[in-house]
Amino acid sequence: MGYIEPAPLKDRENPFEAMMSRFQIASQILGLDEEIYNVLKNPTKQVIVSLPITMDDGSIRVFEGYRVIHSNILGPSKGGIRFDPGVHLDEVKALAAWMTWKCAVVDIPYGGAKGGITCNPREMSSGEIERLMRAYTTSMIEIFGPDRDIPAPDMGTGPREMAWLMDSYSRAQGMTVNAVVTGKPLVLGGSLGRTEATGRGVMVSALAAMQKLKINPYTATCAVQGFGNVGSWAARLLIERGVKVVAVSDISGAFYNENGLDIEAAVIYRDQNKGSLEGFPGAEKIPGDSILSLEVDVLVPAATEDVITFSNANDIKAKLIVEGANGPTSSRADKIISDKGIMVVPDILANAGGVTVSYFEWVQNRLGYKWTEERVNRRSDRIMKDAFDKVYKTSINYNVNMRIAAYIVAIDKVAKTYKYRGGF
Ligand code: NAD
Repeated sequence: MGYIEPAPLKDRENPFEAMMSRFQIASQILGLDEEIYNVLKNPTKQVIVSLPITMDDGSIRVFEGYRVIHSNILGPSKGGIRFDPGVHLDEVKALAAWMTWKCAVVDIPYGGAKGGITCNPREMSSGEIERLMRAYTTSMIEIFGPDRDIPAPDMGTGPREMAWLMDSYSRAQGMTVNAVVTGKPLVLGGSLGRTEATGRGVMVSALAAMQKLKINPYTATCAVQGFGNVGSWAARLLIERGVKVVAVSDISGAFYNENGLDIEAAVIYRDQNKGSLEGFPGAEKIPGDSILSLEVDVLVPAATEDVITFSNANDIKAKLIVEGANGPTSSRADKIISDKGIMVVPDILANAGGVTVSYFEWVQNRLGYKWTEERVNRRSDRIMKDAFDKVYKTSINYNVNMRIAAYIVAIDKVAKTYKYRGGF
């Protein structure tokens, strides 16, 4: 297999700077001490590893892997592992910081981390991916641990990869340590409800926001960008609550049906078509990016970062944006969207359902006990709703948008914890 070109940099903002610009605004509003600001703006640890892998044709290819721990002040750090050709250190740093804020917003006792490998899993065999995952785990054996740093899936990885990670880590420890990673298959100690947890949290926060905006779910329309784990579950669960999902998209394009899409059929089609909606018969195919400017009430970007930018923010017609993806809106687009009066439920709140149920998985593993799906859903819904209400109240009290309010809630918690614990 030849050299893989990194993903093209679109109208892109450096993701770390995008995160920092919001962090700066919220810190100023909060009047954060300069010392604490300086601590929180720098990740605690950044690890880069080189991973030589024997490919199926016998050649050896070297991949680069990253793990960034942004903060472990609230507890062990937590964050997914991304397999994508576009992975680079700045992106991982931004995603790690987002995890710190996300865990703080939903008030779970974790710090933030993120990992990634620059690779294209779509062009690799299962054996190559397994060797890569195991090599990465071995390189990170000192970093990972149930009380230190707990990985999870992200774009391009899922329960299968987490099983390999758990197995490699456990072999190195000489015992089964299932609490080292979350998002595992059920039989290895995964939690019921984890697969749909992020999409479910998107649905809960979308409904809470619709209530504030007086949008009736039974007459509302929605478009979802991205039809992977988050997007497809958000779409399914919103439909269950009465919302009409008129468009979904993936990397192959967007699929529109003004009468509402049959999401169950789309999921089956995708699963039988190597994860792609290309050729889905139940809808009209429209250009991929046009999904962002459709005439709908609710827009759920659930694909990747930096898709709502300075150049296209003005075209958005939705009244509500619920960010299933991490960092889908560039910081330069924030002001345009706020000025248009569109409410944004920001990523660090809207997609925190995933890390919340990951936390439940870790709790169950440590207890050696299994909760029912009903208990998992009930508890995660409550956490998401409470977090939404806290952020909404903060946005009113400080007269700021929901994104800055979420950062204020998060930074305030981390800063207070830091003050009590003290530095060196
Ligand atoms: P996934 O790999 O399951 O799916 C990604 C989907 O997005 C695919 O359908 C892909 O075709 C599509 N896509 C990629 N680039 C696109 C583009 N430019 N335009 C349209 N579609 C595009 O990934 P996922 O787990 O669903 O994650 C999606 C986003 O949600 C990421 O930003 C991730 O960081 C975030 N997120 C995921 C979780 C989780 O639990 N999986 C939790 C929190 C946040």
